[in-house]
Amino acid sequence: NLPKIAWIGLGIMGSPMAENLIKAGYQVSGFTLEQDKLDRLAAAGGTAAASIAEAVKDADVVITMVPASPQVEAIAYGPDGILDNAKSGALLIDMSSITPQTSIDLAKAAGDKGIRVLDAPVSGGEAGAIEAVLSIMVGGEQTDFDAARPILEALGKTIVLCGPHGSGQTVKAANQLIVAINIQACAEAVVFLEKSGVDLPAALDVLGGGLAGSTVLTRKKDNFKNRDFKPGFRIDLHHKDMGIVTDAARTVGAALPVGAVVAGLVASLRAQGDGGLDHSALLRGVERLSGT
Ligand code: NAD
Repeated sequence: NLPKIAWIGLGIMGSPMAENLIKAGYQVSGFTLEQDKLDRLAAAGGTAAASIAEAVKDADVVITMVPASPQVEAIAYGPDGILDNAKSGALLIDMSSITPQTSIDLAKAAGDKGIRVLDAPVSGGEAGAIEAVLSIMVGGEQTDFDAARPILEALGKTIVLCGPHGSGQTVKAANQLIVAINIQACAEAVVFLEKSGVDLPAALDVLGGGLAGSTVLTRKKDNFKNRDFKPGFRIDLHHKDMGIVTDAARTVGAALPVGAVVAGLVASLRAQGDGGLDHSALLRGVERLSGT
C-alpha cells in the first residue's frame, strides 16, 4: 500500500513533480492558488482539493513546493494550515528553496505536533522536474529520509541526505550561488563573442567540450542565442536565493566576493522590471553595461 500524498504548490516545478508521483501510482490530493493548475492536476488523475486542510487531512506524506519562506510559513502555520490539519505521524517534505533557519524552526514546531519534517530542495529546473531527474538535497533524520526515498526516487535521480534539518537548504543556497555566477560568466562570454563577430553556435559548441563547459552553458545556450527569456527560473526567485546565501554566508563568516557582485546584478535586473524573466536574462544586464 503506497502512502497517500498531499501536494501544496503546483507551479512551474510542483505541477510536473506531482504528475510524476501520479504516474508512479501514488494517490495525490493537491492544492494551489491557480484554478488552471488544479484543473491540470485533476486531468492528470489527481484530486483537486478546495483548501490546504482538505488536501492534507488523510495524507501520510505532505509535500510543499511554494516560492519562499513566507509562503512556507503561511501554509504550515496558517489557520487552514498543515500543522493544524495533517495527521499526527505524517511526514512533511518541504521541497521549496527557503532559508535554512525557516526549515529548522518548522521541524521543531511540527515535531511538537508529532509531524516529522525533511527539507528537500531541488536543482535541475523545469526540465529536470518533467523528466524526474532532479538533484534532491535533503536535511533531517536518517529514518525519515529512508521513508521518503521511494517517493523522492519518483522525482529525481541524485538524492542525498546532507545532514540535520536545514542542511538541504544550505546546500541549495550553495547551488544557487554557483548557478548565478556561472550564468553571469556565460552571459559575459556571449556578449564578448557576438561583439567580436565570432559565430556564436560554433564558439559555444567548442567551449562546451572543454573546461569551460557546464550544465548552465549547455542548457541556456538557446536562451542566450535567441534572447528567449521565458521562465524557467525567474529572476525574482534567484534574487530571493542570493539573499538566502548572502545572509547564511555572513552568519558563518564565509566571504562571497564574486557572489556579492552577481547578487547585485540580479537585484539590478529586478529593479529594472525584469524580475519575471528567466535567470538567463542576466545577459540583458551585460548588454546594457556594454551599451548594446
Ligand atoms: P511558481 O511561482 O511557478 O509556483 C509556486 C506555486 O506555489 C504556485 O502555483 C502558487 O499557487 C503556490 N502557492 C503560493 N502560495 C501558496 C499558498 N499560500 N497556498 C497554496 N499554494 C501557494 O514557482 P516554481 O518555479 O515552481 O518554484 C517553487 C520553488 O522551487 C521555489 O522555492 C523555487 O526557488 C524552487 N525551484 C524552482 C526551480 C525552477 O526552475 N523554476 C528550480 C529549482 C527550485
